[in-house]
Amino acid sequence: MDNELSMDQQLIIATGNAGKVREIGEIFSEMSLRLLPMSAVLDPVPEIVEDGATFSENARIKAGVIFRATGIWTLGDDSGLAVDALGGAPGIHSARYAGEQADMEANKRKLLEDLADTPESERTARFICTIAVYINPTTVLETEGACEGKIIDHPRGDSGFGYDPLFVPEGYTRTFAQLTASEKHRISHRGRALRKMKELLHEYIRR
Ligand code: IMP
Repeated sequence: MDNELSMDQQLIIATGNAGKVREIGEIFSEMSLRLLPMSAVLDPVPEIVEDGATFSENARIKAGVIFRATGIWTLGDDSGLAVDALGGAPGIHSARYAGEQADMEANKRKLLEDLADTPESERTARFICTIAVYINPTTVLETEGACEGKIIDHPRGDSGFGYDPLFVPEGYTRTFAQLTASEKHRISHRGRALRKMKELLHEYIRR
């Protein structure tokens, strides 16, 4: 059994978020990949400065820092919410929309305030996620997933995280925070980007 396990390709997940590691584990479950949280490989974990101008740059920064420190295949992701009436904001600044020290409650409050005068028909938005996987110093696989929807005017639902209680995906009446985890994964930006990455990785694992 140990021998079989040790033949698996290792893939570090460059995130401190245990929920993301679990979600990626579920989507990649039947692959010959051994997923490792970065904290299991590096102590201390090097500082990652997310100063890219796009989701793609940030995903590559996260994966690149950990790949260079370990030489092991590494997956990085970056995601956020783009609201049309706000010119694509909060975008790459989604985690700190209301300021560097702001928590998610403040971020959601700011979003509702910024959209207070925007009619329902113009509250269209999408979640976007980019996944980057370093498999050697010059080969980075990249996929993107998006989920279209709209921003409602008051929060609904208790599951999920971030802006989930304010986002109703297209074709649904419930918010992301009112869907089960598996319902959300099926249509979410992260689920879509990860399933595309799974297809790309299959090609490399077979070689
Ligand atoms: P990061 O990809 O971990 O840097 O997340 C960026 C931010 O985007 C999060 O802190 C959330 O505010 C927001 N975000 C990304 N994905 C989701 C989601 O699936 N639901 C709600 N908020 C999200």
